[in-house]
Amino acid sequence: VEFGPGGRPGYCGHPEIEMALVELFRVTGQERYLAQAKRFVDARGQAHLADIEFGRAYYQDEAPVRSREAFTGHAVRALYLACGAVDVAVETGDRELLEAIEAQWERTVAARTYLTGGMGARHVGEAFGDDFELPADGAYVETCAAVASVMLSWRLLLATGNVRYADLAERTLFNVVATAPGRDGRSFFYSNPLRQRVRGESLDPDRPSPRAAAGLRAPWFEVSCCPTNTARTLASIGAVLATADADGVQLHQYAPGELRIRLRGASAALRVDTDYPWAGDIRIHIEQTPADSWSLTLRVPPWAEGSVLRTPDGEHRVATGTAVARRAWRPGDVVDLHLPVAPRWSWPDARIDAVRGCVAAERGPLVYCAESVDCDGDLDRLAVSTGKGPREAVATGLGAVALAAAGSWREAGPTTWPYGGRPVPDGRAATVTLVPYHLWANRGPATMRVWLPEEA
Ligand SMILES: [Zn+2]
Repeated sequence: VEFGPGGRPGYCGHPEIEMALVELFRVTGQERYLAQAKRFVDARGQAHLADIEFGRAYYQDEAPVRSREAFTGHAVRALYLACGAVDVAVETGDRELLEAIEAQWERTVAARTYLTGGMGARHVGEAFGDDFELPADGAYVETCAAVASVMLSWRLLLATGNVRYADLAERTLFNVVATAPGRDGRSFFYSNPLRQRVRGESLDPDRPSPRAAAGLRAPWFEVSCCPTNTARTLASIGAVLATADADGVQLHQYAPGELRIRLRGASAALRVDTDYPWAGDIRIHIEQTPADSWSLTLRVPPWAEGSVLRTPDGEHRVATGTAVARRAWRPGDVVDLHLPVAPRWSWPDARIDAVRGCVAAERGPLVYCAESVDCDGDLDRLAVSTGKGPREAVATGLGAVALAAAGSWREAGPTTWPYGGRPVPDGRAATVTLVPYHLWANRGPATMRVWLPEEA
């Protein structure tokens, strides 16, 4: 009543209620909930909320939702608002609103997103930065923003069928959401920077951490949104792996498990066997199926050039995007998808000046990092050679595939003034060990870098 037709013209400074109202409409069928969600989305940006030191973008009140070009301001609020806008757009058939959010997503992914999929570069205002403002060390990248990004990607995937949304969700799940909890399951990162300059301090397990960024995962936070958001996301992860429609079944994310669905009025059951992302082989057993033909659609990530699909009808290479196998399936049929997960180097766009001259290692969907616990020297003086790709290396006690790369140490400069003539390389050879970024800071305090200077 208070915010309804003829009521107060405002809206909440922390968007979330829009999603909840649409969900309430879906459950109850009562139109008034959908109408209220639409009212909140449409009204936003009319400066009903106070202007504060972080600017109106902090409350997502700087401009109407439809007229924005990219996500801006407080990252979690921006992404939750976009989720609510997509929900409203889908339920009201509002193509213009859906296309506006799609365009904002495109621009944000193209210029305001970290290699990990993380969003929100600035600590001040917990906010998106300007285009290409993506510092590795100062990165805020709140865990909740990653959860919100996955929620948005899932909604946009359902609304459009565009697999790019599933690609970003995978990158974000493996490299930010999975990074937040420690291996002990009792400590969490709130902030997920791509570089740690100083070793973190061990924290009292019985006290909340006053800092979002601590270098080690903290057992408690005063504002404990991220731990609960991570737990909720991991507990419901099965809900974002696959979809089904009149055409068949679509697998978007790969994890071992069973899928039981209604397909054309009949029961279907699929079992997925895989050790992904450590290995790129995914085997799908058709255990129960309707008699007539349907399509099994499998996502092939953008890094998986040279993937191979094997079905009872034969074997062939498949392009990135989606691989579709259509036939009258029989119980006992097996489909094998092979995604090459060979390690590779990735270079940043030259406009991301904070990491210009650096490279990062990736393998399959995983981003890797160098951690000082594996390194006999100062990480800041290390450079890697990209003449050869990183290679798979012996494990480091993390139960994960580690990588190794050739590199060298660089001479430290003069001690009194850190500027002057062109630096001379030390030339002393180094072997650089790289571990999956999501596992960093599990072996005690360490410095860390995702982006490593490339040898000249
Ligand atoms: Zn949070």
